[in-house]
Amino acid sequence: MLFIVIFFVYGLVIGSFLNVVIYRLPHGISLSYPASHCPYCQTKLKIRDLMPVLSFLLVRGRCRYCHKPIRLRYILVELGTGLFLAALYMRSGLSIISLVVALMGFTLISSAFIVYDEHPLPTKLLVFMGFFIIVKQFLQPLPLMDWLGTLVLASILFLYRKRQAKDFDTELLLLCTGLFTGFELFALLLLLSWGTSTLFHCIMYYSLLSWHQQTHRALVILSYALFALLI
Ligand SMILES: [Zn+2]
Repeated sequence: MLFIVIFFVYGLVIGSFLNVVIYRLPHGISLSYPASHCPYCQTKLKIRDLMPVLSFLLVRGRCRYCHKPIRLRYILVELGTGLFLAALYMRSGLSIISLVVALMGFTLISSAFIVYDEHPLPTKLLVFMGFFIIVKQFLQPLPLMDWLGTLVLASILFLYRKRQAKDFDTELLLLCTGLFTGFELFALLLLLSWGTSTLFHCIMYYSLLSWHQQTHRALVILSYALFALLI
């Protein structure tokens, strides 16, 4: 139990770092400099402002200095990463494969939120995911048919998107998860994310809420992808 809590807290801290990656990487800003600051009043944040989740609760979701609201999303990324890491530890304990799955999960979280923010998927993150796929293949090889099935299904998906003249970033998230988890989970992921996106699209359309099919789909895919990594 103690270890589950420790990994949850680790996850919160890593989630806090992923928030920095999500914001800075697409803008080409260094991840370490300048130090974290409030996006509104530019005040440099102190240690007490940087504790994941806790700082948010202590200042009731507002900047301590200018009182502008802090985006709830930062907390969601931290909590999501914390839960993912705790669940991963519960599933497979401490092992090399857990480490690779965790790193893949962190890269997927960063990638999905960057696409959600309407930025192109950074090549660096794609290279990382490719690397984790290869390492996983050495540790737990997938049969050749899995690779072929995933690539054929992905090609159909890409051609379909090309015909619609849409970009491929969300498909790349699907494909990377598929090559990591295998064909069955990829096909399931495809169906579930497509079904959920369509359902949300209909609900939001009729309730006149804003729903951006392409960018919100990245978060739907991410939710299922994290579950797929934990199966
Ligand atoms: Zn501020």
